[in-house]
Amino acid sequence: MRKKHLAITLSRLEGFRNPKPELEQYRTPGNVAAELLWLAHSRGDIEDRVVADLGAGTGVLTVGACILGAERVYAVEIDRNAIDVLLGNLESLGLADCVEVVHSDVSEFSGSVDTVVMNPPFGSQNPHADRPFLIKAFEVSDVVYSIHLAKPDVRRFIEAFVRDFNFSITHRVTLPFEIPAQFFFHRKKLERISVDVYRFQRV
Ligand code: SAH
Repeated sequence: MRKKHLAITLSRLEGFRNPKPELEQYRTPGNVAAELLWLAHSRGDIEDRVVADLGAGTGVLTVGACILGAERVYAVEIDRNAIDVLLGNLESLGLADCVEVVHSDVSEFSGSVDTVVMNPPFGSQNPHADRPFLIKAFEVSDVVYSIHLAKPDVRRFIEAFVRDFNFSITHRVTLPFEIPAQFFFHRKKLERISVDVYRFQRV
C-alpha cells in the first residue's frame, strides 16, 4: 500500500459521533496519521511489532498500524462511545483480530510494547492533558510516536520533558492539521493548525 492510499483509507473511517470537548476528541486527519505511520513503518517500528495506541479514539492510528502489518495493537481509550466507533471501523476492514481494546484511562494501562503511536489531547481544553500520555508512553515503550502543536512554547516543553525521561527526539516533522468545526467554540468552518509529528527513542 502507498502512503497516499493509506491516507485516503484512514480519512474515510467513521468519525466521533458526539465528540466531547473535555476529552479533546478530534480525530486524527488521514494525511497526518499516514505520515506518522509511514515514518514508523519505514523505521521498522510497525511490521510484526506489538503497538499501543494511547487515546485511540475512532481508531485511525490503530487501523493504520494493523494495515501496515502490526502483530497486535492495544487500543487504549477512556470513552465507550469512541470505542464503539473504533470497533465498527475495525470490522469494516476485517481487522478486528489485530486489536485488543483496553477501555481505561491511559494511566491505568500496564504492560510493555515495542512501539507507542498516539495523538494525545493537545491540552487546549485542559492544560497539560498531554502529560499523562507522554508519561505512560515512556513507561511502556522505548519508541514513541506522538503529535503535538507546532508552537514554540510546546516545543520547548516537549524538548525538556523528553530529556527528563531520558528520551531523545530522533525525528520531528511539521504538518498542517485540519479540524472541522465541531464544537460550539469553533467559529471557523475549518480550523487549520500546524502540528509536529515526533519520534522519541529511549537514550
Ligand atoms: N487518534 C484518535 C484521536 C485521538 S483524540 C482518532 O483518530 O480518533 C484523543 C483521544 O484520547 C480521544 O478519543 C479521548 O477520548 C481520549 N482520551 C482523552 N483523555 C484520555 C485518558 N485520560 N485516557 C484514555 N483516553 C483518553
